[in-house]
Amino acid sequence: MSYPFRTGFIEVICGPMFSGKSEELIRRLRRARIARQRVQVFKSSLDDRYDLDQIVSHSDQTLQAVVVKTAAALAERVEDRTEVVGIDEVQFFDAAIVDTCERLANLGKRVIVAGLDLDYRGVPFEPVPQLMAVAEYVTKTLAVCARCGAPASRSQRIVPREERIVVGAGDAYEARCRHCFEPELTSQLTLKLQG
Ligand code: ADP
Ligand code: MG
Ligand code: ZN
Repeated sequence: MSYPFRTGFIEVICGPMFSGKSEELIRRLRRARIARQRVQVFKSSLDDRYDLDQIVSHSDQTLQAVVVKTAAALAERVEDRTEVVGIDEVQFFDAAIVDTCERLANLGKRVIVAGLDLDYRGVPFEPVPQLMAVAEYVTKTLAVCARCGAPASRSQRIVPREERIVVGAGDAYEARCRHCFEPELTSQLTLKLQG
């Protein structure tokens, strides 16, 4: 099939934990496969929550993925004939991932990335804001607030750890809306633990 225009663009799926980013990524990639497009799926080796070489959603949907450590390693693994590139947990990649995605899209590939737009303090989580800026399509997904049931845009960390990256799921985070979100909670928990 040939198009009357050149293909290649970037799609960003972003939002808090439990908002269905991985589900949406898996849905789009499965549909691309149904359309007989050549799809490659990547994830960061930092994300060791479930099966290492699979994207897994909290609703237990899975998709086989290639595990890479850096944006450069990802770029090296993309095959010329690949038409669609999917990346989950894109916030775990270094800043070079923005350039990598741009280059792949310029080569005519459909690049679909999913990741957190905010960290556990509610601060924009690069490289996702940069990717949102250069993307053609941005989808914000919302979870359900664990406190009040409202649409939730924040990931509340509920354990006393203050590193920016703490890999975990229901044990370490819950989804919260803007009003129920407590950005200082982790430091309060840490202080309590020390005192
Ligand atoms: P993400 O990749 O954004 O973390 P997933 O796609 O892995 O999200 O999981 C989304 C699924 O998580 C939902 O379809 C639902 O089954 C489940 N889930 C668990 N807790 C929540 C919550 N608080 N809000 C919405 N969905 C939740
Ligand atoms: Mg996910
Ligand atoms: Zn709430």
